[in-house]
Amino acid sequence: MKKILKLQSWSKELRNSKKDSMKIIHKFVDFIPEKVEEGVLYISIEYCVAVHKCVCGCGNEVVTPLSPTDWELTFDGKSVSLSPSIGNWNLECKSHYFITRNKIRHARRWKDWEIEKGRKNDINNKENYFKKSMINHTL
Ligand SMILES: [Zn+2]
Repeated sequence: MKKILKLQSWSKELRNSKKDSMKIIHKFVDFIPEKVEEGVLYISIEYCVAVHKCVCGCGNEVVTPLSPTDWELTFDGKSVSLSPSIGNWNLECKSHYFITRNKIRHARRWKDWEIEKGRKNDINNKENYFKKSMINHTL
C-alpha cells in the first residue's frame, strides 16, 4: 500500500515538472468515445465538438464546442490549435491554458472579476452574432 502511494506522488511530481512542455495528441473521431484518455484531444467534425481531459490531471472532461462564437479549431495538416484559450472556471482546479499546435501552454489563472467579464463578453458576442445572422436571414 505504501509503495503505491509513493509511486502516485512521484508520478504527480513528474507530471508537474513536465507541465511547461506538455503535449496533447489529436484524434479525429466520428463519435467522442465513452472513455476519454488523458493527453488526447478528440475532435468530431460531424458534431462540431472537441473533448479532452483537463491537462492539470484532475480527471475532468472538458468539452469545447466548435462554432463561430465558441472555439475555433485550426488543423495545419500535422497539429491542431484551439482558440481562444481554455479556462476551466467551472472546475475546481480552475486551470487555464492554450492548446497551440498540440502543445499545452499554461496561462495565468484569472481573477474572479476577469472570469465574470469574460462571461459577459461571451454572451455579448453570441447575441451580436445571432442578431447578425437573423438580419442576414430576413434580407
Ligand atoms: Zn483540472
